[in-house]
Amino acid sequence: MNAQAMTQTKRQGAGETLQTTGDSQTLMEIKDLRIWYRTTRGNAKAVDGVDLTIQRNEVFGLAGESGCGKTTMARGILGLTRLPGYVESGEAIYYRRTSDSTSVGSDLLTMPAREIRRMRWRHLAYIPQGAMNVLSPVTRIEKQILDAIYEHSNMSKEQARARMFECLEMVGLEPAVARMYPHELSGGMKQRVTIAAAVSLKPGLIIADEPTTALDVNVQQVILQELREIAKSMELTLIYVTHDMAVHAEMADRMGIMYSGMLVEVSPIVETFKEPLHPYTQGLISSIPAVGGGRSRMVGIPGNAPSPLNWPPGCRFHPRCPRVMDVCREKQPPMLEVAPGRLVACHLYPTPISDTTPAFEELRK
Ligand code: SF4
Repeated sequence: MNAQAMTQTKRQGAGETLQTTGDSQTLMEIKDLRIWYRTTRGNAKAVDGVDLTIQRNEVFGLAGESGCGKTTMARGILGLTRLPGYVESGEAIYYRRTSDSTSVGSDLLTMPAREIRRMRWRHLAYIPQGAMNVLSPVTRIEKQILDAIYEHSNMSKEQARARMFECLEMVGLEPAVARMYPHELSGGMKQRVTIAAAVSLKPGLIIADEPTTALDVNVQQVILQELREIAKSMELTLIYVTHDMAVHAEMADRMGIMYSGMLVEVSPIVETFKEPLHPYTQGLISSIPAVGGGRSRMVGIPGNAPSPLNWPPGCRFHPRCPRVMDVCREKQPPMLEVAPGRLVACHLYPTPISDTTPAFEELRK
């Protein structure tokens, strides 16, 4: 029985859904999520039908070209959608463990704003794009971290200070950094401060949205490694959002590929790179430059992503797909589990895959 089937609604009302689940490994269930933006030309359907389950303690990579809906989805499931965006429909159920180890779920999309604010930092943390600029330039680092700890926990002053220094050390910063102002720190140090703050209350889920894109490649590499190690050692769940497939290869345990507001493939990281199923995933991977040989020519993906104001009918990737068939222009492919832990939405895989699946044979030519 899957997690969804085992889920049992206990109470519903006042904009809140509480559920228990028999699958204690499930941290979040996203169901048929649609987040749209109102524009003068109609609704831009940035996220348009996403189903996804996130497991506890995993690093989940969310990939796709710019404009595919990654950031809208990442912010949306934390209740951070702002006008003109709005949640058209769907659920994002976050499961907390209670003292008797039961998993209790709440729909973050219908939770009152006051409740969701209380969950921030203790349960949910967000490291945004350009995280270095979220620090107040006129406030010392220690005050910025301590204020958040005081507001969202019952720690004493001494406990909070000890926790702050512990987190700064975890991200490789000296205690002296606590007394500094952001302008006294390098970009990499500021980024480490935002990570220290995000993990300070051991939240169940951290969403990091392209937090290192403004840094040079060497610093980025070290920080990514640190973030992954911290998430693993503290048993946190991390959703890492970036279009950079090479970063996902280093960071993620599992990844989801978004295209035109939907997920088109979800697979463990090794399988994703070894045997990508969806033609779009294949295109993304073929776009990664290979250093030191291997691939002599980057292939890439022809054409441009379609407009969220007017998704193409059938499979939304069909105008760019090198494997397009007649059915693709008419019918949207459902997301199917074609091998254990491997989900793909593509008409090439109508049944579970095997070594003799024609799409595989074609792939190997
Ligand atoms: Fe290509 Fe058809 Fe698969 Fe879409 S459903 S990715 S058009 S083969």
